[in-house]
Amino acid sequence: MIVLMCPHCGGKVERTDDRQYALKCPYCGGEVSFEAIRSNVEYNDLRDINVRMQQDDAADADKRRKLKQWMLMRNILVGVFGLINFLAWFSLGYYTRSGREPVFTMLTALLLLLMLFTSVAFPVLLAATRVSYNAMNRQEDKGAKIKAFFGLLLTNVLVFVGTFLIALIVIWALGWIG
Ligand SMILES: [Zn+2]
Repeated sequence: MIVLMCPHCGGKVERTDDRQYALKCPYCGGEVSFEAIRSNVEYNDLRDINVRMQQDDAADADKRRKLKQWMLMRNILVGVFGLINFLAWFSLGYYTRSGREPVFTMLTALLLLLMLFTSVAFPVLLAATRVSYNAMNRQEDKGAKIKAFFGLLLTNVLVFVGTFLIALIVIWALGWIG
């Protein structure tokens, strides 16, 4: 809301329409020009747009930073899951061969349970902490959590099979089988 003083009578003239740059004074009928403030208003509009863009940029940077942290966390957890899987398969191989003492039975069972638990727990944890944001088009991505969950589940299946094959090769190289 902008109020100007009428140059003819000194009355206060209120500018209610943003697109209006000249109007009649309600007291004396003289013309009151808002031309002088036009550039000022346009400057303010531009400044507002600029501020909004800067706010968008700051929000984008914040979400990108969170996404980066999440990806680091994801990589660490996939690595941890891979290690648990390898140890579980390796332990199972040792148990199958000669380690049927109670301590190895316990260890193998524990590792297999941990493998099963983390195969679902890690994707759930990561999906819950995933930012619902698409950094490519800078837009809200409502399906990001679901996509992350199934993507990680698929990754875990590949890790599950991959570590089995690696453990099999290691066990074979150690001369436990074949
Ligand atoms: Zn007037």
